[in-house]
Amino acid sequence: MQVIENAPAMQAWADETRRNARRIGLVPTMGYLHEGHLSLGPAARRRADRAVTSIFVNPLQFGANEDLARYPRDLEADARQLRECGVDVLYLPSAAAMYPPGFQTEVTVTGVTQGLCGRSRPGHFRGVTTVVAKLFNAVKPHVAVFGEKDFQQLLTIRRMVADLDFDVEVLGMPIVREPDGVAMSSRNANLSAPERRAARCLSRALDTARAAFEAGERRSAALLEKARGVLDAETLARVDYAEIVDAETAQAAGTVDRPALLALAVFIGKTRLIDNAVLGGTR
Ligand code: AMP
Repeated sequence: MQVIENAPAMQAWADETRRNARRIGLVPTMGYLHEGHLSLGPAARRRADRAVTSIFVNPLQFGANEDLARYPRDLEADARQLRECGVDVLYLPSAAAMYPPGFQTEVTVTGVTQGLCGRSRPGHFRGVTTVVAKLFNAVKPHVAVFGEKDFQQLLTIRRMVADLDFDVEVLGMPIVREPDGVAMSSRNANLSAPERRAARCLSRALDTARAAFEAGERRSAALLEKARGVLDAETLARVDYAEIVDAETAQAAGTVDRPALLALAVFIGKTRLIDNAVLGGTR
């Protein structure tokens, strides 16, 4: 596995790979890799000849009072796992390489970023789209793979790619969960043992609402009440938001008459976790 640390070197590799008629697949991550991340690689592999994973903890997408400083990191373990998975290139730019002095350009997607995490984390998606645009320009992927765990992020990237004519296929992959239902997340490492147990309330809330949906309930308010019941019963949990939105536009949906996203953001202690379920879709 090659490790490449700056955009010019990454672009030189990408140009050479494309000259040889090889397709490039990219999996962008912030590292501290788990099975959720690693599930994205094979999807990239199926559509590409060369697999690139990027690891970059992007300061631009963290708010001033967020967890940038305590975001978990373990580069050695990450590199080992990627090597074992047969990843060809680890793209590992430093913050200084990514945002040198004088940097002053940002990419903003509007509508789809307004609610949910966009509302709770002002500037977050601007940070995401800016860094992903830079990753696309450095890695020049034919296909880029993202997890549905960050569903609003996936919608936002799709919007950016369509609106700015990026020649990149964007692929979304299902959420990978721990055996007890908790969505895998690097941030789970920051949970104490009681908090880790409490974290189960997110997936249980989703399951409870989904069961009501499957029993015929279509009113968002009633479905959310089911989810809230589970979350409110967990003393270590503080709900940031629990909402049902259209699964394509991320706009509020009063009833679920087309695929909708039930999205949760919940603080467990100091750690903010997100999870979601699509209602009325294929999942
Ligand atoms: P992150 O390192 O948290 O920025 O995540 C990098 C990529 O992995 C994003 O596309 C995430 O949506 C995806 N991802 C993270 N956790 C999971 C999970 N549990 N299941 C599927 N994809 C995930």
